[in-house]
Amino acid sequence: MILHRRDLEALALRILLSLATPTEIDAEPFAMTVEAADDATEGSHGFLVKLASRPPSDIGVRVSVSTTEEYFAASVAFAAKAIADAFQLEVIESLGGAARPSCEGHAHPMQAAADQHGAWWECPRDSSRCRRIWPLTHD
Ligand SMILES: [Zn+2]
Repeated sequence: MILHRRDLEALALRILLSLATPTEIDAEPFAMTVEAADDATEGSHGFLVKLASRPPSDIGVRVSVSTTEEYFAASVAFAAKAIADAFQLEVIESLGGAARPSCEGHAHPMQAAADQHGAWWECPRDSSRCRRIWPLTHD
């Protein structure tokens, strides 16, 4: 199976927008790019996902997505978590420590989590309080 660059862009943008909510800020100052890395090993595709909120110091995270059916879903889920972790750190830092994404009713941010089926934001104190990151559709 193949994950195209534009699919990963949509996923990374969704993660970025979840960090921008509630909307005192928008995603506009955070320029995000996804590049295909050409050092992919057999059986996987590599991508470099960058968030440049304070140019020229790009924040980049490398992710690898399996092309085999058996590992594809899990590799995308863990890639989504890696992107979420990297973007979250940068956004929180850029906003002076603001909790993003906000955990409703709590002062702390939600934290990214993943298993072989998907990735999600969850409350660090109550994992039943969660918000889906990937897959993008259906529950
Ligand atoms: Zn919470």
